Amino acid sequence: MDCPFCGTEMIHGYLNCGNTIWSERKHRISTLPDGKEKFALHLEVPVLSPNHVESYCCPKCKKIIIDSSDYENNFD
Ligand SMILES: [Zn+2]
Repeated sequence: MDCPFCGTEMIHGYLNCGNTIWSERKHRISTLPDGKEKFALHLEVPVLSPNHVESYCCPKCKKIIIDSSDYENNFD
């Protein structure tokens, strides 16, 4: 995949992460959604090893692209 920002070929890899949420607001303590916010990429604390979220990183401009469609969200 070429970077949509600068055109450089992106590097395939994984976001290795624990509990995670993309949200329109900042979470101060927990990463649980409160029912009013829009959220995506909601992942609970992993049991054995970090979560592995397939993604691409641009080696030039350092942007990371994640297809979050396979993860919990409330956009539907
Ligand atoms: Zn780039």
